[in-house]
Amino acid sequence: MDFTYPPTVCFECNGCGLCCADTDHKLRHILMLESEAEEISAQTGKHIEEFAGESSGTQPYIYEMKKVQGDCVFLKDNKCIIYELRPLICRFYPFELKYDADKGTHVFTATPECPMIGQGKLLSKKDFETLYALAEERLPQS
Ligand code: SF4
Repeated sequence: MDFTYPPTVCFECNGCGLCCADTDHKLRHILMLESEAEEISAQTGKHIEEFAGESSGTQPYIYEMKKVQGDCVFLKDNKCIIYELRPLICRFYPFELKYDADKGTHVFTATPECPMIGQGKLLSKKDFETLYALAEERLPQS
């Protein structure tokens, strides 16, 4: 596992739902892998077209979650109703993983948009190893 991560970041999700909806400053793009959309469809009995639209130029993510009045279609009473099936992007928030070609390694960064960055427990390397392993498992190997 070759990645770097913010060594002294605290975070604990408080279920505020901010990351599941558009904000005044940000249009949310909840991108999904084909495998994730198929799994959600299989488990919910919904056709992919009922909850996702095709997304272009965002490979390997080929679907984008639909929204209702700015909220993810699966956000009900501020709760994710497919929590166990939620896509990688949702599991990663408020972190992002990008490949830094100059450094030749993957880099985790945190978005300051999330009000819970700096709150809660200090995250360990183990926490980021778990996310990295999930990305390795789901993302097509380049
Ligand atoms: S799938 Fe769930 S966690 Fe992801 S944006 Fe929708 S409601 Fe939020």
